[in-house]
Amino acid sequence: NTESVDTPTLGQKLWFNLPLWQKIVIGMILGITVGLIFGEDAVVLKPIGSFFVNTIKMLIVPLVFCSIIVGITSMQDTNKMGRIGFKAVMFYLISTAVAITIGLVLGHVLQPGAGLGLVAQQVEVVKETSSLVDTIVALVPTNPVSALAQGHILQIIVFAVALGVSLTLIGEKGKPAIALFESLAEAMYKLTDLVMKLAPYGVFALMAWVAGKFGLALLLPLVKVIGAVYLGSILHVLGVYSALILFIAKLSPIQYFRGIVDAQVVAFTTTSSAGTLPVSMKCARENLGVSKGVSSFVLPLGTTINMDGTALYQGVTTLFVAQAFGIDLGMPEYITIILTATLASIGTAGVPGAGLIMLTLVLTTVGLPVEGVALIAGIDRILDMARTTVNISGDIAASVIIAKSENELDITIYNAK
Ligand code: ASP
Repeated sequence: NTESVDTPTLGQKLWFNLPLWQKIVIGMILGITVGLIFGEDAVVLKPIGSFFVNTIKMLIVPLVFCSIIVGITSMQDTNKMGRIGFKAVMFYLISTAVAITIGLVLGHVLQPGAGLGLVAQQVEVVKETSSLVDTIVALVPTNPVSALAQGHILQIIVFAVALGVSLTLIGEKGKPAIALFESLAEAMYKLTDLVMKLAPYGVFALMAWVAGKFGLALLLPLVKVIGAVYLGSILHVLGVYSALILFIAKLSPIQYFRGIVDAQVVAFTTTSSAGTLPVSMKCARENLGVSKGVSSFVLPLGTTINMDGTALYQGVTTLFVAQAFGIDLGMPEYITIILTATLASIGTAGVPGAGLIMLTLVLTTVGLPVEGVALIAGIDRILDMARTTVNISGDIAASVIIAKSENELDITIYNAK
């Protein structure tokens, strides 16, 4: 019966007509259901999720490289670049510090670790004094090709900016190379579209795996930590970003939230802000009207150095560990946590679980037992989902606010949907 092959069924018609984000949400809900029903067995679906994650990762380096060059060369005015870069870095550092503060306040008020009464084996204090200088020196790739090959995003950004500026400075002679990068960047945007069509299936598989792995009962002992991180994340995204969009950019926060749903869902399920970058760029450009120039510079930079969610999580979990081991922290420790976590967030890669590794750095800097990391590790994926979502929401908020202040925001697109 050929008819049944050619004519889509009602179910198929309904499914194919849905907007992408709804398909993704359905994939997520079905995935959780399947995971809870089949438990650990749902791990068989993980390869589908990994396939999707790999297709997204495949885009990152060429997309960032080409789109930054195009962003720079389309801006013509190099003074403007410097100004945008400065604004972005300021925005990122300040919003990160605010996020940790929220995390610390919640950790203090909710006391997630109180009464656990754990005893530390040994407390080591490591002072990471040279890390900021090292980070800055390491920004310059001694071999740009190897930076590209190894996917060092910060180094790639530095080289792409330098190349973009030089291409602009040589005028006519730069035109052919600029045209080449423009064409490659367009192709990468198209490829992002194509890859995103896989998202509902990838998300389904990833959620089935996570829900199957953790189940609901396993979450109970650490439910307070999860609650505090999620509450903080919601407060930060709804409170801080709304306020910034409303008061600084004088735009409707509702449009901002509508425009970023796709990226948030991808971030939530893949727990990689670097992996979400192509989707964040698409949301910023197509749903929020951020110019290519601003989005292709501010977003890759944000993905690499702006980690508000990770910082907030470090605030909550550091206090959790302190409480669990019955160690009192005072104001000096709180300030150290804010500084260390802000700097650590610059060095945190936008990949799954990176924040947990940086937590070790924060714990040791304030003299808390590193064993605390083991307590968090079991639920880290669940926390990672929230913090990655906050991370990319902050990147996109920055791109909107900066684009608005630079007259690089298309208001008609922003208000369209
Ligand atoms: N997974 C986070 C991200 O990609 C980083 C982290 O682990 O905190 O943004």
